Amino acid sequence: MDYANIKTRKYDLGEDILALGAKAKKAKLEANETINATIGAMMDDVGQLYEFKSISNVFGRIDNKTYRAYPSIDGGPVFKDAIKRFVFQNQLKLVEDNFESMVCATPGASGALYLVLSNYVTDGDMVLLPHIHWSNYKEMIKSVGATYQTYQMFKENEFNLDDFKQKATMIAEITKKLVVILNDPAHNPTGYSLSKKEFKTIIQTLDDLSLKVPVILIYDVAYIDYFGKTMEESREKFAILETIKSNMITAIAFSGSKTFGLYGFRLGALIGLSRSKHLIDEMSRITTFKARATWSCSPATGISIMNHLMNHELDYEDYLNELSYVKETLNKRGTEFVKIALMSELSIYPYKDGFFVTIPVENPVEIYEDLANQHVFVIPLDKAIRVAISSICEKEIPRLVQALKNSIEKI
Ligand code: PLP
Repeated sequence: MDYANIKTRKYDLGEDILALGAKAKKAKLEANETINATIGAMMDDVGQLYEFKSISNVFGRIDNKTYRAYPSIDGGPVFKDAIKRFVFQNQLKLVEDNFESMVCATPGASGALYLVLSNYVTDGDMVLLPHIHWSNYKEMIKSVGATYQTYQMFKENEFNLDDFKQKATMIAEITKKLVVILNDPAHNPTGYSLSKKEFKTIIQTLDDLSLKVPVILIYDVAYIDYFGKTMEESREKFAILETIKSNMITAIAFSGSKTFGLYGFRLGALIGLSRSKHLIDEMSRITTFKARATWSCSPATGISIMNHLMNHELDYEDYLNELSYVKETLNKRGTEFVKIALMSELSIYPYKDGFFVTIPVENPVEIYEDLANQHVFVIPLDKAIRVAISSICEKEIPRLVQALKNSIEKI
């Protein structure tokens, strides 16, 4: 049988960050002085994937029957309650007083993003993204047959509200609908976190547009637990959602990958909010259907961990203490990077929190190659270089910044 002409779906395939990561990993095994700043996962100071001991302990305490069995497609009532308490913390009452809500367990935040994009975006639609974004958004948008439009994310180191508003209005006028992906706090790849004022203006802009066209805000909070000193502080911006007057849909994508260091468990959730019961009932119905038709149910292991954690106070306390330590470690790396970059006059996007620092450059691929020759591995993006401070230790930072500076000047 000749398979040469087999019909497959055609995609414009994007860059492969994972393949570059594998190259860096191999180089590290061959030469110990290699700096591997490619991994979007929290590594400890000796280059091992950080293990939250508190979470491993929880795993050991769960009756294995709970994760050997099939879970409900949406995660079930215990999970839905647990995830809402975790994601909203002390803002839960405000959210519940103001909005109808739905929850669907998903394989990571990726699953949540896919559920919204595949149900609310079709051929001819344009999704609004910042000019610099997690590259997988593009692949997901392409895979549902849509395109995207970008706005310049920054104006003098602050969020560019004018361009955001202009592009959002343009899409609403052209397509009679508006779907926006907002990744905040600790944006991948710049590390920018919106101020409360900026977030409020974005919400108001969308709420105003919602008087004219349906608006869906996909709010990707994958890095929320690496922002703010306390859980209360990291959730403060949710209070701003109260200012929404329209029926616009806010679709929150939660990731257990970063929050619990459980990248392979595929723990995640979609939480939908709207003032309209009809819209939320429909969102629940269509996303659960799509989940069933795509991956069946989400992994029960992650669901069981969330359920246990939110119903066992002492284990939860242990986790929060460990999270504070991890956050502090990452903050130290971020502060050190920004300090040395400033001293070396290496210009970076305005970093505030999170796993990545990004440097705007003209020739990312050439710089990537030059750095790789010096055993320094980073990720080339479109007109930028991404450095994962999550995957390096503090003492590697001076050499890393110097190498970046030299390569950029040379090329
Ligand atoms: N959103 C952003 C901005 C990310 O960087 C990632 C992962 O790197 C995700 C979502 C997806 O995370 P996961 O599917 O592992 O939960």
